[in-house]
Amino acid sequence: CGIVAYIGYREACPIIIKGLRRLEYRGYDSAGVALLNGALNVYKKKGKVQELENFIAEKDTHAHIGMGHTRWATHGEPNDSNAHPHYSTSERIAIIHNGIIENYAALKTHLQQQGHVFHSDTDTEVFVNLIEEIQKQNSCSLEEAVRLALHEVVGAYAIVVLSKDDPNQLIAARKGSPLVIGIGKDEFFLASDATPIIEYTNEVVYVNDYEIAVIRDGKLEIRSKEDVHQTPYIQKLEMEL
Ligand code: GLU
Repeated sequence: CGIVAYIGYREACPIIIKGLRRLEYRGYDSAGVALLNGALNVYKKKGKVQELENFIAEKDTHAHIGMGHTRWATHGEPNDSNAHPHYSTSERIAIIHNGIIENYAALKTHLQQQGHVFHSDTDTEVFVNLIEEIQKQNSCSLEEAVRLALHEVVGAYAIVVLSKDDPNQLIAARKGSPLVIGIGKDEFFLASDATPIIEYTNEVVYVNDYEIAVIRDGKLEIRSKEDVHQTPYIQKLEMEL
């Protein structure tokens, strides 16, 4: 139900946790984070953001790129394994997702036949394995795999994807669920709405339906689902801190 992601020079985890707290008003049943620092560390818990914070207090949370999620369960009961982020069978790609993938059952059967292993009952875990399978079959970039996957899923989504193989990159996309990108100096913030972003920057881009945002090596690029470059419309928000 809520998405926060960060890439830049600061420690990602405290920014993400604070952002998730700011999105608490949207309602949720579980929370989690994925942090990339060479390793891909995923921590998730049923319950409040506070429970996630207690859980990660003793863990390695050092990272300058990461993402967090508060879940409002639609497919699979609220528990630790159904909480987001979800990761692919190779444990190299992670995803957070707001929304519903309607054709997940058929996709899941197909992916299981191709050897993908599932640890949750969610529609979301299908999405990340689909991206992995497409990347493997086409030997393509992560961005291209995400783009091709969007042509196969039916439903609503705001997603953020990261991969161990691309440690300076965040990929996001949306259709039907909101997604905002905050543009800082040498840093970027992604969130479901601007509330987690405004304390860091007032320059934002609202991602449109059927757009893919790629943040790589300090630059933001937005492309359509058909792979056409889009000029981002940067808005200045009124700061009300
Ligand atoms: N459909 C996904 C799930 O049940 C995402 C729910 C959400 O938007 O939080 O895990």
